[in-house]
Amino acid sequence: MSKKRVIAVDVGGTKVLAGLVDAEGNVHQTVERASVVTSQESLLDELAAVVRELPQEDVVAVGFGVPARVDQVAGTVLGAVNLPLHDLDLRSELENRLDLPVGLENDANAAAYAEFRLGAGRHVHSLVMLTLGTGVGGGVVFAGQLFRGWAELGHIVIVEDGDPCNGACTGRGHVESYCSGTAVDRLARRVLGEQATARDLVAAHHPALDEVGHHLGTAIGSLINVFNPQLVVIGGGFGVAAFDLLLPSARLAAEREALAPGGRVEIRTAELGAAAGLIGAGLVAFEAVQA
Ligand SMILES: [Zn+2]
Repeated sequence: MSKKRVIAVDVGGTKVLAGLVDAEGNVHQTVERASVVTSQESLLDELAAVVRELPQEDVVAVGFGVPARVDQVAGTVLGAVNLPLHDLDLRSELENRLDLPVGLENDANAAAYAEFRLGAGRHVHSLVMLTLGTGVGGGVVFAGQLFRGWAELGHIVIVEDGDPCNGACTGRGHVESYCSGTAVDRLARRVLGEQATARDLVAAHHPALDEVGHHLGTAIGSLINVFNPQLVVIGGGFGVAAFDLLLPSARLAAEREALAPGGRVEIRTAELGAAAGLIGAGLVAFEAVQA
């Protein structure tokens, strides 16, 4: 067994989680910080600093999962909805700061890849994953291969001219407008009062979550019609926490919208839980060494 390790960094809209990951995908030690959203430069400095907080021994590469649109050929980030990242040669910037090979992937793509290799999807050859966190991300594995292009599944329209989307997104009625932790925080304030959050709705098993599940299932139905996956995986902090409460109404909506036999597609929670993104970034880092 190789002693080689990588440092994986899961960059979220709210927090940055970094960890040492071995070649089998085991996470050994983690550090967490709040995301710096003041400027691109300070975010880059923070990402380098969080990597240096971990032991560097036997570390051969660093992998980043970022909630952004990534151009894999150029290694650039084209834009992000919830972070100050725009038109940036992120791979080079981080390689210069860290002096190690850097792998870069969209955070939800990374999570989908981890679930496919090591989690809920390890027995299938195609899956679609949605991560419900600050925003909504998505990843697709088709015929055993991760789709490494844009898979901004959180920004498909499920309600025409619906609620405004988050952050830098100008759209309306997107999955993220209804199913992100941020959107459900808004819903919580509406139904439980000014101080309430999505966490309170989940703790109360509040029926308002049926509405969120319905929106989620509507999205899942359309994704089944596009990709015909064997499995749909729901991850992300909010997605994992609320999964059991969202599933009944999500399943009903997905079964209605999906063409047969898509309605019978399995919908499962991320097996790697909130660590899927981190482990996926680790797998991407190992690939950066082989490249
Ligand atoms: Zn959007």
